[in-house]
Amino acid sequence: MDTVLSVYLYDADIMIVLPETVEDVVVKLLRLSNTRLSHDIGWALEAAAGWETNEIAYSQLGCIMDNVKKAEFLGKPMCQDTGVPIFYVSGRFDTSVRDEISNGIRRATKEIPLRPNAVDPLTRENTGDNLGEGMPIIHYHPTDDDFMEITVLPKGAGSENMTRLAMLNPSEGVDGVKRFIIDTVLNAGGRPCPPSIVGVGIGGMSDTCVSMAKEALLMPIDKRNPDPVLDALEEELFIKLNESGLGPMGLGGNSTVLAVRIKKACCHTASLPVAVNIGCWATRRATARIMPNGTVEYIQEGE
Ligand code: SF4
Repeated sequence: MDTVLSVYLYDADIMIVLPETVEDVVVKLLRLSNTRLSHDIGWALEAAAGWETNEIAYSQLGCIMDNVKKAEFLGKPMCQDTGVPIFYVSGRFDTSVRDEISNGIRRATKEIPLRPNAVDPLTRENTGDNLGEGMPIIHYHPTDDDFMEITVLPKGAGSENMTRLAMLNPSEGVDGVKRFIIDTVLNAGGRPCPPSIVGVGIGGMSDTCVSMAKEALLMPIDKRNPDPVLDALEEELFIKLNESGLGPMGLGGNSTVLAVRIKKACCHTASLPVAVNIGCWATRRATARIMPNGTVEYIQEGE
């Protein structure tokens, strides 16, 4: 069942009120995330071009930024791999949100269009609409807020395939954690389309650790980590990875990563899980906040 919402369209010179459903919001989120890079990542790309000293790397960054501008201007996806959309729903919501997200994905696949990427894992048969068994992927976080927030993170395979989890021995400590993160990024080479955002989860159990690593990609990259220990770790890894020489698309240079973002949670005393989920230069994300009166605010980081 669709929920009819009154939505104020801030894009217009004159504020007009049109009915919009949650399904419409999902289509708009998928369009926004695929055609417009969040400003925090755009600024980070420009900053990287400022410190890059390798000529080939500098031209790679220029091509990426040119591509981003053209995608926004033309309203076309910035990459041919429009990914698998991962949804995060928080606040106050009911079970109809799942059907509305499915309908939104189906429509967006045709209208934007998005590349149909969902296949059966064994037969490799394509479902054709980015849905199917186990789809859509939605993480639910109910809260006491009176609004609902929907965030989408379309995740391409090039970066997702480089995801790694290590169940370290606790005796390996922080040095073992750093070693694993650096090795994972460098072994991935150019495959996740650097310059990357490195999402890291530390602690939890194996499943929550991997989830945290992906959720870390949603953290704005133009703000410091509020945890001073993680903040220092992020900065140290950022410097070391950019000194590695891997560079944009793995072709050499000193702009391998745009940011390292880390989340942590308590873990078993006999465990030290660490997960890395790499976001490519096209780390696409967008959020809609739907208020109880039906107004919708679209949010991309850095605005
Ligand atoms: S890793 Fe990212 S930039 Fe590279 S092909 Fe996949 S979605 Fe596109």
